[in-house]
Amino acid sequence: MAGKVYLVGSGPGGQGLLTRRAADIISRADVILYDQLPGERILSSLPERAEKIDCGKFGGRHTLEQDDIEKVMVSRAAAGKTVVRLKGGDPFVFGRGGEELEILHAAGIEAEVVPGVTSAVAVPAAAGIPVTHRKYASTVTFITGHEDPEKEGSAIDWESLARIGGTLVVLMGVKNLPIIAETLVRHGKDEKTPVAVIENGLRENQRVITGSLSDIAEVCRQEKVKPPAVIVIGDVVSLYDPLRPVLVPPDGEEPSGCPD
Ligand code: SAH
Repeated sequence: MAGKVYLVGSGPGGQGLLTRRAADIISRADVILYDQLPGERILSSLPERAEKIDCGKFGGRHTLEQDDIEKVMVSRAAAGKTVVRLKGGDPFVFGRGGEELEILHAAGIEAEVVPGVTSAVAVPAAAGIPVTHRKYASTVTFITGHEDPEKEGSAIDWESLARIGGTLVVLMGVKNLPIIAETLVRHGKDEKTPVAVIENGLRENQRVITGSLSDIAEVCRQEKVKPPAVIVIGDVVSLYDPLRPVLVPPDGEEPSGCPD
């Protein structure tokens, strides 16, 4: 009997936003391929019995190339195993889940996708920033910041993004933030547009750095912001209030009863 591969989204980190379907499938897995994005909480609670393979892709320190990941998924499933490919957030939002699904289908392997809570929406929410708001933004655009905007043949139309308005949410953009901000302003976006950078969203060490398109790169440099971080550009950022944090209970803790 051939096995099956599940492309599972873990959410942004922490058991609280792992779906019940994801937790159930993880508990039944024979093999789990993961990288660091799901975060320490989830990774440290993976079941003992499963073979766990660290794909180690986080921050570019590849320990297993994409090709190898796909080969392992296919061979283990062909040998009858239940395989989980665990990904941060949602597997189809900048997670190569789409590519992996194509490979599995081509290899004749049964596959199922388990959607996850994407950091693109949940991380701003954790900072009290709604990605849409009737007064401030009726559209939201998700952008990968992995690509250098000045690269020849960039797949991203920055000129249109500078004009589109609404909220721009950039993932994987910490390294290229200076050039992203500069490119948007060069194409006509107001340099006073507010920007929030949320580092380690929904984790104990979450930090929110704010500024405008003109100064956010410098502020982040001074604050030594590191990935993973979600960058939110647009007027919704004005709703961020550091004095009124949207409280996220520490992971795994039950909501407490009434204070005495
Ligand atoms: N599939 C994922 C995104 C993968 S790309 C999803 O749906 O969330 C990786 C990027 O996601 C990171 O560079 C960062 O921009 C963002 N990210 C994921 N988890 C995050 C977290 N807990 N805090 C901040 N950013 C996060």
